[in-house]
Amino acid sequence: MSQSYAGKAERPRILATAGIHPHEAQLANPAALEKLDDLLANPEVLAVGEIGLDYYYDHSPREQQKQAFAQQMEIARHRQRPIIIHCRPSEGSNNAWDDTLEMIESNWAGTSLGGILHCFTGEWEHARRAMDCGFLISFAGNITFPKAEPIRQVAARVPLNSMLIETDAPFLAPVPYRGKRNEPAMMVETARKLAEVRGTTADAIAALTTANFERLCLRTRNTTRYTDVSDGN
Ligand SMILES: [Zn+2]
Repeated sequence: MSQSYAGKAERPRILATAGIHPHEAQLANPAALEKLDDLLANPEVLAVGEIGLDYYYDHSPREQQKQAFAQQMEIARHRQRPIIIHCRPSEGSNNAWDDTLEMIESNWAGTSLGGILHCFTGEWEHARRAMDCGFLISFAGNITFPKAEPIRQVAARVPLNSMLIETDAPFLAPVPYRGKRNEPAMMVETARKLAEVRGTTADAIAALTTANFERLCLRTRNTTRYTDVSDGN
């Protein structure tokens, strides 16, 4: 869709990201990684993601998740793209946060490419460590849920120039649409809730988060293939 809409004045521009989700990490063979590398030649593909670690579902073995995560960070580094992180720990644990943040700190912090913690559900300390590595913290419709007070408390502290909002569509439709199929238009409710938490207006949140997104994602790219310069790893 992104490619077929590109450069057509009468159509909206659709920007994409590409990555192998931690659920599918066991499919991250050399051919799949090469395909990812090729997709990143496309200027419409802005970032590498969702990548990361999911120890809640464990759909792929954790060692394979870590390996796929590290390999994709290498490709993203070469292609000069930010990374979009999916992180979900086991119930009642911070295990995936510990590993994800450690890997970001050791493999990614030095790139200055930054990234996004997508659909943030962690604690302040997780947000802080990621922001120290140049990450933006992205809040989704679940910030409107009555039980989401811990997430709102983090949202109250994240600097305004480090936050984003997102749909996570078709999941996490905000109140009052909870349980319905989520759509981008419903994101206004997420902006309203965030505005309430921050004592500002939804319009101000919209302008700020748009500017944050553009600062992170609309930069120069590398047009050579990773796989041509990296000894075929
Ligand atoms: Zn996700």
